[in-house]
Amino acid sequence: KQLSVAIDGPAGAGKSTVARQVAKQLGLIYVDTGAMYRAITWKALTHGVDLTHEETVTQMAQRTDIRLSTDIKGSDVWVDGTTVTEEIRSPEVTAHVSTIAGQSKVREVLVDKQREMGRKGGVVMDGRDIGTHVLPDAEVKVFLTASIEERARRRYQEMIRRGYEVDLEELKEEIGLRDEKDKNREHSPLRPAEDAIHLDTTGLSIDDVISRILHLCRT
Ligand code: C5P
Repeated sequence: KQLSVAIDGPAGAGKSTVARQVAKQLGLIYVDTGAMYRAITWKALTHGVDLTHEETVTQMAQRTDIRLSTDIKGSDVWVDGTTVTEEIRSPEVTAHVSTIAGQSKVREVLVDKQREMGRKGGVVMDGRDIGTHVLPDAEVKVFLTASIEERARRRYQEMIRRGYEVDLEELKEEIGLRDEKDKNREHSPLRPAEDAIHLDTTGLSIDDVISRILHLCRT
């Protein structure tokens, strides 16, 4: 079995940037599980589905074809054949995603898909419950954190780059709220695995973080 790498942590800790680069350097595929929760949220919002109705959302998730590009650029997402790469990053999707992520049956559907993608190894997967629940046997587990100020700043720059008008203080509040929901939910809450290596990325460059994780993967 090839190497599996689990990268978890709160919003804006730099998981996806780092995970994508680590995958590229090691020739592994990259799976962004947050994009899957976002994809289901986007579809529910687009179809006017009541997000709080777990049964309906679960059935919808079961019938949804979610595809993630696994090539080097590795950021495109398709729902039932339609590209939603940009759409799933909208403030609206971001504001509603924790509602869906809190539903155990919806999680089961997505976790099954994630385990299937990681079945043979050769994967870097990022999310909130990868080391604890999705890939508990991953050889390398990293829990990435950063101060809330730093995470809000990173998210701010990302949103500006995507063409959104955002307010730093509002983003900070939104991230804090989402973290609280992710930490306090009943099913697979955001939590480091017991055997995870903690890495505080505040003040570290992306390259620093990447090389530290590569080092863990090579030892
Ligand atoms: O990683 P990203 O910020 O795109 O994730 C969006 C949301 O999806 C998170 O705030 C969380 O509620 C949910 N999520 C999750 N479990 C994962 C990945 C994401 O609950 N493995």
